[in-house]
Amino acid sequence: MNFIKPTRRSIFFDTHATGCHMPSKRASPDPTTLAEGFVDWFRKHGRDYPWRRTRDPYAILVSEVMLQQTQIPTVLDRGYYTRWLEQFPDWQTLAKADENSVLKAWEGLGYYRRARNLQKLAQVILTEHGGTFPEDHAVILDLPGVGPYTAGAVASFAFGQAKPIVDGNVARVLSRIFNDPTPIDSPQGRDLLWKRATELVQATHDPRALNSALMELGQTHCRTGRPDCEACPVRTQCRATEPEALPVKGSRPTLTDVTERVVFVRTASGILLEQETGSRRTGLWKLPALPEPFHDQPPPVLMRSNYGITRYKVTLWVHEAPSGHSAWPESHQIIPHAELAALPMPSPYRRALNALLKEREEGSLAL
Ligand code: SF4
Repeated sequence: MNFIKPTRRSIFFDTHATGCHMPSKRASPDPTTLAEGFVDWFRKHGRDYPWRRTRDPYAILVSEVMLQQTQIPTVLDRGYYTRWLEQFPDWQTLAKADENSVLKAWEGLGYYRRARNLQKLAQVILTEHGGTFPEDHAVILDLPGVGPYTAGAVASFAFGQAKPIVDGNVARVLSRIFNDPTPIDSPQGRDLLWKRATELVQATHDPRALNSALMELGQTHCRTGRPDCEACPVRTQCRATEPEALPVKGSRPTLTDVTERVVFVRTASGILLEQETGSRRTGLWKLPALPEPFHDQPPPVLMRSNYGITRYKVTLWVHEAPSGHSAWPESHQIIPHAELAALPMPSPYRRALNALLKEREEGSLAL
């Protein structure tokens, strides 16, 4: 699509004092015109992603789950999506896969519950739906781990149904287009967003393109912070007067500082690791926690790093092995060096372990 660059004159007449928009007093945008603008733009300018070339609900759902808390470049450029589909090409393969291999394939993406839920879903598709993903939106919504966003994404992208989706990008786009200051994370704000997304998707014959366009506009022109309104394909429909101030969010939970102490224990046969149980990282391996009795007087520190998870800001301290301590629980095992790479391990520990091993390797080479 060739955008017509607004002249100074057209900017003056088409926009509000903030410089890019029609006055907010205008009536709400017409859903059909707005939907047409989105679909027309997307058909000409939509980005080409592998999950947009398929109608396979499995491949689409994998992309949606991977992208829930991960950026597109990570999923795509670092090969996660392609590798996953090569290793687990369908519901059946994923359902029957060893959990260790599923977690390993997810390593580096974080939020491992997503991988486990995906496998549980595959098992339900196999046992309760004969290996075929259901097309009925209500049945999709009933599947374990599938919420309104994922159900809408698969229903529209795989089956072309007029079902809405609302994620962070869509919420930003809609709250700006409707110039709506209702907090998007309030019950009222959420209801409004879903209602508007529903009206829009029902106003087009191409729900797949409409939903893709909404998401893509939020990633491109209508990005966080300062949007590129001059080049926006739906600018004549947009009612935002101060787009940078939208969307409005309620108070955000503050980050809590957490200290985590682990140990690096190396023996002639390998590295001592702990397999996590009873947490969202169940089944994953990590550097063992520093035993409680050593917390008051911890052994010397080997390295320190920081990472964030949900609402926690974690400082990870890696200590030398506590001298004289050998009573490690059963969940701890010495893992031979050759097997370390194959174990699923959250990124903060993988980075620490690799750094320590490299340091020692270089140290021993230098001797
Ligand atoms: S980029 Fe966003 S705020 Fe700007 S005109 Fe487009 S929809 Fe409105």
